[in-house]
Amino acid sequence: MSKLSLDEIKEKLLAERELLVAKLKGSDLSIDDSETPDPVDLAVRNYSKNVQLAVSENESKQLALIDEALLRIDNDEYGLCQNCEKEINPKRLAAIPWARYCLECQEMVEKGLLDEE
Ligand SMILES: [Zn+2]
Repeated sequence: MSKLSLDEIKEKLLAERELLVAKLKGSDLSIDDSETPDPVDLAVRNYSKNVQLAVSENESKQLALIDEALLRIDNDEYGLCQNCEKEINPKRLAAIPWARYCLECQEMVEKGLLDEE
């Protein structure tokens, strides 16, 4: 892979990272618990808190993937499948720059045939 496209990918990753960090910060502005709410209100609040938690869990995961990808760029290992060590299709990387696996291995992960660490 040429140097230029790696720079582009790095830029993409950093931009995506910034977005995620902003989102995660946003979901921290959580609900004010100081007043005593009625039970219905409380249930609604707990529900939306759980939803928020689930959302930030996904985003934290993606953030970790992006950090990993950036690390691989720095280590000159970018674009290699983390399972079979073959080169990941550049088109796939253009679409999902934080992809860890090649298409075949990703399919195995989705079918549960491959353990993600
Ligand atoms: Zn693979």
